[in-house]
Amino acid sequence: MTLHALVSERLLTPKGEQPGAVLVEGERIRAVVSRDEIPQDTDTRDFGNAAILPGLVDSHTHLNEPGRAEWEGFVSGTRAAAAGGYTMLVDMPLNSVPATTRVAALEAKREAARHKCRVDWAAWGGVVSDNQQDIEPLARAGVRGFKCFLIHPGTDDFTMVNERELRRALPHVARTGLPLLVHAELPAAVDRATSRLVGANWNLYDTYLRSRPEEAELSAIRLLIVLCREYRFHLHIVHLSASDGVALVRSARAEGLPVTVETCPHYLHLAAENIRNGATLAKCAPPVRSLENREKLWQGLAEGSIQLLATDHSPSPPEMKKIEEGDFRQAWGGIAGLSMALPVVWTEASRRGFTLSDVIRWMAVAPARLAGCDSRKGRIVPGHDADLVVFDPEAEFVVTKERLHQRHALSPYLGEKLRGVIKATYLRGQPVFIDGAFPGEPRGKEFRQQDAELNS
Ligand SMILES: [Zn+2]
Repeated sequence: MTLHALVSERLLTPKGEQPGAVLVEGERIRAVVSRDEIPQDTDTRDFGNAAILPGLVDSHTHLNEPGRAEWEGFVSGTRAAAAGGYTMLVDMPLNSVPATTRVAALEAKREAARHKCRVDWAAWGGVVSDNQQDIEPLARAGVRGFKCFLIHPGTDDFTMVNERELRRALPHVARTGLPLLVHAELPAAVDRATSRLVGANWNLYDTYLRSRPEEAELSAIRLLIVLCREYRFHLHIVHLSASDGVALVRSARAEGLPVTVETCPHYLHLAAENIRNGATLAKCAPPVRSLENREKLWQGLAEGSIQLLATDHSPSPPEMKKIEEGDFRQAWGGIAGLSMALPVVWTEASRRGFTLSDVIRWMAVAPARLAGCDSRKGRIVPGHDADLVVFDPEAEFVVTKERLHQRHALSPYLGEKLRGVIKATYLRGQPVFIDGAFPGEPRGKEFRQQDAELNS
């Protein structure tokens, strides 16, 4: 088999950043060597000062297919991913129809994904009010873990769970050994806050912010930690926005509980003080909070209390964002972040003295571990898939619609100048994105544990 070498002055391996070459044989990394160790007759591409990173892994993507491909789908979502340096997505179980809460729905998703994906993918299964008996079958059928909501998720075809329903599900979840990802906001605090907003002006960002107070997140996290102590399952809190949640997670971890937490690029970049009234493109749930809160989230990343970053890529058609009306109550809560996540994070991280190794830990290594695909994804090491990203960390660019490759080119980042350009993305040895183009046919596959075991 032909050997290929990708060479850079800034190769990001688990040892840190160093000059070197990745030797690729077929779909896998054969070795990481120095420039003078490249065997003769190797097909070599030298990327100079552009860094080579492992393909990013997004453990929180809403692809919405089958059933809502007009919001986003495998074709456009995985194109946005490839353009953003992602080579692996884990799809959330809701917003597709059917929701991934039964094995038949997982099979329908597999069918819908066929021949459409530019990057590899896998699925989370849903835990809803009435599918406790489906949890273990879903695990056997190949989901990487489960997701549930403690509050209404914005669509009616995925039911939230209350504590009683969650308690019925948790023994099943614990038996699978897979993580349970939880949207941690409790309705009581939101209902209380909203009842005080009668007659408020919903074009003001502040009204929306006050309707989803930190206490909704904090009360949910406290409850989840109690349940984690009792049922001993891997609890993963998704999209933490309230920075006081960091301390709760830190003490649970110190106690030895299997708790992890993610936050999202938008919480690390946007801030309530800078969101214009009516700017519903910035609406997400939980909401983007204050500048001070944002800095505390960065602190949580710095100390390792927040382990990973995920996009919560959650697109909708333009009419659902109520852009004209500027109505924060009616607008869909979701930000499509796949194409811009790395530049957004790098712009903020580099400004605060973090390195590319830090970014890789948050956006590749840790999410691959959460999704149980770290035997093949997330690091540049021999035997792993040759999923690689060529990234120019010094270049700057302005976000335009042409750079957004999701189904609808909507983004709160449009017009902003960001740092770090994704030049190319390689999936299992072949380029899937180069300088704005998507070469070849879609080759993305579902990540299956069996494949990893067979091939390693
Ligand atoms: Zn989400």
